[in-house]
Amino acid sequence: VRATRGGEEVRGYAPSMGQIFLRRFQLVTQFRQSLEDGHVSVHYQPKISLPNRQVQGVEALVRWVHPEFGRLGPDEFVPAIEAAGLIGVLTSFVLEESLKRVRKWLDEGLRISAAVNLSVRNLADEDFPAKVQRELERFDIPPELLTFELTESGVMSDPQKALPILRELHSLGIELAVDDFGTGYSSLAYLRQLPVDQVKIDKSFVLGMGTDLGDLAVVRSIVELGHSLGLTVVAEGVEEDVARDQLEAMGCDVAQGYLISRPLPEDRLEAWLQARTARSPGRHSETVLTL
Ligand code: C2E
Ligand code: MG
Ligand code: MG
Ligand code: MG
Repeated sequence: VRATRGGEEVRGYAPSMGQIFLRRFQLVTQFRQSLEDGHVSVHYQPKISLPNRQVQGVEALVRWVHPEFGRLGPDEFVPAIEAAGLIGVLTSFVLEESLKRVRKWLDEGLRISAAVNLSVRNLADEDFPAKVQRELERFDIPPELLTFELTESGVMSDPQKALPILRELHSLGIELAVDDFGTGYSSLAYLRQLPVDQVKIDKSFVLGMGTDLGDLAVVRSIVELGHSLGLTVVAEGVEEDVARDQLEAMGCDVAQGYLISRPLPEDRLEAWLQARTARSPGRHSETVLTL
């Protein structure tokens, strides 16, 4: 009894600076080994086109099941990995896993694209575009089936460095998306300067649009702005069918969120895709959703 009470007491305290530092240190030093041990994996979250509801692509989202700390989301370890200069290792892993998936789907007659999140630090690597090109060639993937997602603050923190790399990636035919759009400080004007194809409306606005007229107005403006610049508009955080219907009515192009599916490990994603394909007999190259 006393032990239980003690345990609860300990849990009630905020971790000390020393504990936080130690944990970050452990994450950083153990990352490569965890990769080798198969404790780091990629989950995939489907995105559907509106209004036809076909699966258009998946977003690759990294996961780490740590032997001591348990399941970790990217927000808990990606910043430490970035700070330690290991983001190249992480991105290569996620990219390779994603391209393997896309290759497998192509072999099955499915054209499904994969979106990989980049850190601004990836754009500090001048060899990054050449590395990506080699990977596309290795798996024989058409570049338009790969999307890179970057946050606006990421791009704008060092545009001098980021822009040439982005242009190079874009000229390879890879799709570029601005992630979490609407949360940064950036003006809408800069969007025009960037070689991007997609904007992803930040989920905070999409989650709020059912109850908050301000959020609804932001979502509507981003859809209009995106379209006036010729961009594909993606909404993340679609949890309710009301939200999906509203987005569809506004002309938003792509929806992603728990309503469609949570991020899934690859075996569960395969089952999810198969269940959808099975429901539409005779259509081999498309995956239709009946939500
Ligand atoms: P993000 O790129 O904006 O990814 C979307 C996040 O929203 C994911 O969180 C996803 O699980 C979550 N989400 C999706 N649909 C819904 C919904 O309907 N409702 C709610 N409440 N949430 C939803 P996750 O997987 O925890 O990833 C967090 C962030 O970590 C990502 O945000 C991305 O910025 C970063 N990240 C993930 N994987 C990678 C990676 O491989 N490399 C890098 N550099 N960053 C990554
Ligand atoms: Mg993203
Ligand atoms: Mg986002
Ligand atoms: Mg985010």
